[in-house]
Amino acid sequence: MNAFTQVSTNTTALTNASVHFRCFSFSKTGGFSYFDNMEEAQVHIDTLDEHQVPYDVMTREQFLNQYPMYTLPGDVTVVLTEHPMGALKADACLKALQAEFVKLGGVLRDSTEVVHVEDLDEKFVRVKTCSECIFTCDKLIVCAGTWINKLLYSMGFKLDVKVI
Ligand SMILES: Cc1cc2nc3c(=O)[nH]c(=O)nc-3n(C[C@H](O)[C@H](O)[C@H](O)COP(=O)(O)OP(=O)(O)OC[C@H]3O[C@@H](n4cnc5c(N)ncnc54)[C@H](O)[C@@H]3O)c2cc1C
Repeated sequence: MNAFTQVSTNTTALTNASVHFRCFSFSKTGGFSYFDNMEEAQVHIDTLDEHQVPYDVMTREQFLNQYPMYTLPGDVTVVLTEHPMGALKADACLKALQAEFVKLGGVLRDSTEVVHVEDLDEKFVRVKTCSECIFTCDKLIVCAGTWINKLLYSMGFKLDVKVI
């Protein structure tokens, strides 16, 4: 997806997209999270309880007995297995979002680098792309991942982005 997109969306679109996610883009595999101590695990357990997500709590030994194909970092003492956990298929999710965006009248421009953004005045922002196209907008969502500061620099912003 391009880093810059003027988003115009509504609840129906998001609902449609989320139905699509559930039907086509999610593989239920089960999964687990691990913790150094019960105190840390409890924060996670409280959230699971709040949302009525089924889980099992295991000690390190119980987990390794039941799943001998896994190894755990040395300091892990508690493992939570979450039954409904799974993997979202990122390519299918993006396709679903892009399809909804286009359906709502959005225009996607792939392989188009944004080279400059600037404040025009108090109300408008100007965006320039590598293909020399210029867009003017009153709202701009920048989702350039770890490259974000390269683009915000010209507007005098800097975010504390860390690659972890
Ligand atoms: C190897 C790996 C495995 C991962 N596995 C998982 C996982 O299993 N589960 C999970 O939840 N997360 C995972 N992540 C993390 C996840 O990929 C990121 O958190 C997520 O992609 C961040 O999304 P984003 O939209 O903020 O940025 P990005 O996905 O980085 O998207 C930024 C986009 O902006 C574009 N861009 C940048 N500058 C410009 C510009 N000037 N003009 C136009 N476009 C521009 C880039 O090309 C890119 O397409 C993984 C990450 C890596 C690297």
